[in-house]
Amino acid sequence: MSKFWSPLVKSLEPYVPGEQPKMANLVKLNTNENPFGPSPKVIEAIQAELNDNLRLYPDPEGESLRQTIAAYHNVKPEQVFLGNGSDEVLAHLFCALFQHGEPILFPDVTYSFYPVYCGLYNIEGKTVPLTDNFEINPEDYKQPNGGIIFPNPNAPTGRYLGLEHVEAILQANPERVVVVDEAYIDFGGETAIALVDKYPNLLVCQTLSKARSLAGLRVGFAIGHPDLVEALTRVKNSFNSYPLDRLALAGAKAAYEDQAWFEKCCEGVMSERERVTESLESLGFEVLPSKANFVFARHKEKSGESLAKALREKGIIVRHFNKPRISDFLRITIGTPEQNDALISGLRPCS
Ligand SMILES: *Cc1c(COP(=O)(O)O)cnc(C)c1O
Repeated sequence: MSKFWSPLVKSLEPYVPGEQPKMANLVKLNTNENPFGPSPKVIEAIQAELNDNLRLYPDPEGESLRQTIAAYHNVKPEQVFLGNGSDEVLAHLFCALFQHGEPILFPDVTYSFYPVYCGLYNIEGKTVPLTDNFEINPEDYKQPNGGIIFPNPNAPTGRYLGLEHVEAILQANPERVVVVDEAYIDFGGETAIALVDKYPNLLVCQTLSKARSLAGLRVGFAIGHPDLVEALTRVKNSFNSYPLDRLALAGAKAAYEDQAWFEKCCEGVMSERERVTESLESLGFEVLPSKANFVFARHKEKSGESLAKALREKGIIVRHFNKPRISDFLRITIGTPEQNDALISGLRPCS
């Protein structure tokens, strides 16, 4: 702390990202990165951008990428907002859409960036407990609020909420924006984007970090009514006109032009997820049903902390949250078949 800090900075509790250790040969299953790597067409597109044009600013509104994403999701380009990762999209929407003097609602077990943005913008956050089975109950979102946000599938539980339940939340809150954070939707869920024309209060966020293997490129977006996009654009253009650089714009566009690669990676993750789930269950774990690229599991006898520590000693890194309700769970990213084998043998009692 220093006398030079603005008062707000003293009260911030920043987000703590999963660690990115520098050790070689690590089995890294802690930050939900995609094990299969981006499409070769993405690499080619980025390489083609490595030229003298880098002296020029990129397109501030990313028109070409917005058109590609709009066509892919069957909406209009003016319904698409781009950000430097969906984390930036989230930050802008907290600023643009959630400051109505009433607490915003999100689950008690969820993405830990939401309370951080509440702190940054001085928004009151009210947590809504998940059920005993770690599910979102739409009935619990029928209470006064300044906005609602939840991931679907939820993180770190992996549990998916059917679209009919998402609609129930939208219908109960016509005067407030409901944000569905779909970072993991491509691993078996159904996107709510089909509902944006029916519900002007719906904003859907997605990212290229998970299903499209581009966590390092930093591209995310939101889709909703053009009025919501305009609010986000006003905030963005009051902060940074050029959140996506030329390489990111080109690489992201190419990612949407290789559907076969995308499908192959998602299918690979989903089939490995089923295999990992069965293996964990046979080792005495309870595994929550997941539609994400990770599983959330607890052992019937051993603590989450001791298991995470034992795995780490074998060079296998998973995520453990020392938080109420979930401290006995491990969040395990689905890796390559070889990484998943290493995880399973690392968890065998006699190994
Ligand atoms: C990974 C993740 C994000 C952030 O994605 P980026 O686009 O990499 O910033 C947002 N929400 C949830 C729930 C996530 O798990």
